[in-house]
Amino acid sequence: MSNEYSVTKKHEVRMLIQKMRDGMIKELSATVDPKLGITYPEAEIYLKGNAQSTIEALYQEGLLVKEQKENVMVCRKCGGSSFRVMYRCPNCNSLNLRKGMTIQHLTCGYTELESVFAERNYICPKCKKKLRALGVDYVKPGIQYVCNDCGSITQHPTILLKCWTCGELQTLDEAKYMEVNTYLLDHTKRELLERVTFNLAPIVQRISALGWVAKKDYKIKGRSGIEHTFTLALWPYEHALHSLPEIVVDIHMDVAEDVHVLALYAKIIDTGIKNAIFAVVPRANEKAKALAKYYEITMVEAENSEVLTEKLTLTIEDKIKKLLIS
Ligand SMILES: [Zn+2]
Ligand SMILES: [Zn+2]
Ligand SMILES: [Zn+2]
Repeated sequence: MSNEYSVTKKHEVRMLIQKMRDGMIKELSATVDPKLGITYPEAEIYLKGNAQSTIEALYQEGLLVKEQKENVMVCRKCGGSSFRVMYRCPNCNSLNLRKGMTIQHLTCGYTELESVFAERNYICPKCKKKLRALGVDYVKPGIQYVCNDCGSITQHPTILLKCWTCGELQTLDEAKYMEVNTYLLDHTKRELLERVTFNLAPIVQRISALGWVAKKDYKIKGRSGIEHTFTLALWPYEHALHSLPEIVVDIHMDVAEDVHVLALYAKIIDTGIKNAIFAVVPRANEKAKALAKYYEITMVEAENSEVLTEKLTLTIEDKIKKLLIS
């Protein structure tokens, strides 16, 4: 196994990929939130805080393909996407501007808002000559902005953005350009996918041959009122779904520690389920193993997902046989 860093080594990332592989999550589409900027709601259920960077890393590693939908400018400081838009003098940075139709007096070159000439009865404030005819001694260059502080005139003031979330001031160039993408799982990357996800289909098939029913991602409410999810729940055919599962399986796609065993133990205590299997890829630490033994949770360790499928199937079959005997 390579020691190279990969986001796919994290359990929560593998769970997300798993859901996508199983078709429970079709795609990860970005939504643009005024306060939070770009978010990925489906991914955030699993990834919590850093969905965006994780998704980008998965894309870089080749597990996801992207389709760009649009783009958005976000705050360079906080990532928010709602701004107050202001104009700034490109010469002196003043925010104190006037806007209007301008007149340029060709005789002396002076330019000002038409309203200023009008107030003075069309006598040029600079050279004091009376304007005569449009196109002869003066022109109207169009709508422009005149800076009240330095007097400079521009058709294109600097666009300044003030973030509504954090107040950061930035120009359009300084704000961050972001792609708004939808990411899909690249199903052609079979080898890679097999390394980071597991396939329950062969297990479900083998179990049904024994007259048992298996359900993936089974949700059940505990006595506390809290809803728990098990990776796999199993019943003898005749009791299927009408009673508590006889056996539940949780799969952990990372080094398992004691807290992970405790979490499963809490779930089986709360639901009253008697037989639990904790399957781990690639391994569990000593504390986790000791706890599992103490709580009578069967632990299955497998170095990769392929081995996991095989070992888990054997463990389940073994358990079923024992239950049938007792
Ligand atoms: Zn200015
Ligand atoms: Zn003039
Ligand atoms: Zn901001």
